[in-house]
Amino acid sequence: MIDVQYEYRTGIGTDIHRLVPDRPLMLGGVRIPYELGLAGHSDADAVLHAVMDALLGAAGLGDIGTFFPDTDPQWQDADSAELTQRIREQLIKHRWEVVNADIIVHAEQPKLAPYKGQIRRSVAGLIDTDFANVNVKAKTEEGLNAVGQRLAIAVTAIVLLRRRVK
Ligand code: MG
Repeated sequence: MIDVQYEYRTGIGTDIHRLVPDRPLMLGGVRIPYELGLAGHSDADAVLHAVMDALLGAAGLGDIGTFFPDTDPQWQDADSAELTQRIREQLIKHRWEVVNADIIVHAEQPKLAPYKGQIRRSVAGLIDTDFANVNVKAKTEEGLNAVGQRLAIAVTAIVLLRRRVK
């Protein structure tokens, strides 16, 4: 009998970006049709930023600023899907695999229900796990705070990683 043992680590990530005109709304590598988009360095994909921070946290590898400092012009308008691929390479290097990810998108608008499946599929592909291992929830904030007043979209993500004990 083969007795495989794993070690497990959780990580959490959050992000928030301001909603502004003349920017695309990218969430989890999916372009969402909406009159406003997220402002920020790179493409401001708050889902992928939170997921990357959760992955790095679980792996004990710091945060996205460690890998992609916003003072470095190389990452200006960077494609967050490409940055996620780089973080994925770090996980492979350290032998981590994703068990699951749970993502909450805090947004008053647009309504994200029609896009949840696409976002799950996209994120699952980028972090090299099955669709079933990625869950996406969308929550409004009842008109309260910056999210509730449609000034921003925020994201909370948690992941579980595992690797074989040598
Ligand atoms: Mg961000």
